Amino acid sequence: MFHSISILRLLALALLSLSLAACAFPSTPTPVPPTAAPAQPTRAPAPTIATSTLKVLAAETFLADIAQNVAGNRLKVDALIPIGVDPHGFEPTPADVRRVADSQVLIVNGAGFEEFLAKLLENAGGKRAVIEASAGLKSREAKEGEEAKVELSDADLAKAICGAAGGEAPKSAPSGKTATTATTLPGEEGLFAITLTKQADGTFAGYIKLETDEAGDFQIAISDGKLNVAQNAKAIAAEKKVTLKCAGLTQGLVVELNKGEAALALTGFKTDQAIVLVAPAGGHAHHHHAGDPHFWLDPNNVIKYVENIRDGLSQADPSGAATYQANASAYIAQLKQLDQWIAEQVKAIPPERRLLVTNHESFGYLADRYGFKIVGTIMPSVSTGASPSAQQLAALVNQIKTNKAKAIFLETGTNPQLAKQIAQETGIKVVTELYTHSITDAKGLAPTYIEMMKYNIKALVDALK
Ligand SMILES: [Zn+2]
Repeated sequence: MFHSISILRLLALALLSLSLAACAFPSTPTPVPPTAAPAQPTRAPAPTIATSTLKVLAAETFLADIAQNVAGNRLKVDALIPIGVDPHGFEPTPADVRRVADSQVLIVNGAGFEEFLAKLLENAGGKRAVIEASAGLKSREAKEGEEAKVELSDADLAKAICGAAGGEAPKSAPSGKTATTATTLPGEEGLFAITLTKQADGTFAGYIKLETDEAGDFQIAISDGKLNVAQNAKAIAAEKKVTLKCAGLTQGLVVELNKGEAALALTGFKTDQAIVLVAPAGGHAHHHHAGDPHFWLDPNNVIKYVENIRDGLSQADPSGAATYQANASAYIAQLKQLDQWIAEQVKAIPPERRLLVTNHESFGYLADRYGFKIVGTIMPSVSTGASPSAQQLAALVNQIKTNKAKAIFLETGTNPQLAKQIAQETGIKVVTELYTHSITDAKGLAPTYIEMMKYNIKALVDALK
């Protein structure tokens, strides 16, 4: 009984961290002015001769288009972020900083969407008016069941843990002899080989600490010893335990931890080495916002954007106030038409088929307004740069099967690999190239905000009706 190697595994579920940035647009976009030669009523008025010399920048291309509709011929509104570039991951270049430094008005979406903003403004220096288009809008809360956090069956949980256990060399780490001398694991997640100490009864034991960046469920898998988890001197009971038979693991736990330090007591092991595998079961959401910033995917929210932009421009350029007022009213009328048009189109989809699976959490407002249910997202975040854990992917597959969702919708530039994998497991179809965070150039399929919305709705209706 002293021969089996005790393997404690802390789960590293990062195996699926494929470069699935939800908004990972191509990195070499061709910037095109967002106000090029409009011919249709939904387009921004042609920038003839601007009668004001105010320099106005809008962070995103769709926002520049919206603002251009308010500015009309009086001002030219340029986009800071080039067409096709993911605003979530945007990093301003020195040239971008200069453009901001030269601007008198900067229009942003706000609500935490522009993560680069504070540093950009600091680097640009000087003074300018910053118009937060979404000011006054209330962030939605994720609805029950939207996050793919369904309870996995024991078999699926075991499969997820075992799947994550393979292929990685463990990092060596010592353990402390007592809880107070516990050593901290070199990392919040991963696979570790822990050296234990022989006890009076012939078994081996050790104490380690785990530093967690964020609160949430963690998966910890161990072999044939015993694991006790505590936080702030309080024992944390396992929410779930599964029996494992893979990679030396015999037991997997799901424990809910707070942000900070957790104490792990490893006792009753049969050899002096334990391998420990740990990972946040909730995936790795590296970007945290106060809420969901994707307001613009419901045109009713854009009415608020327009009002804020109108008021901001009027303040910066008081002699243009009447123009901005008239332009804003005309554009708000178009947004109301767009809202009606979308509602009408969506009627073609039977209510029970209004199910959205998307690559990241951007469609919440649209879903709320037009009666879609968000079945799940591949990326567990309202931002990008996050990867789903194996458990989350398994949960999403379950959600898709249970809800009988018909299609996964991917935003332009998304790596379709994970979506294809999910499609293979579920038979769901993959619809690519939705335009949500950037409009296209004038020759593209979505050269204005309104056309972007129409294009997306047509794609949703075609796939789901
Ligand atoms: Zn987004």
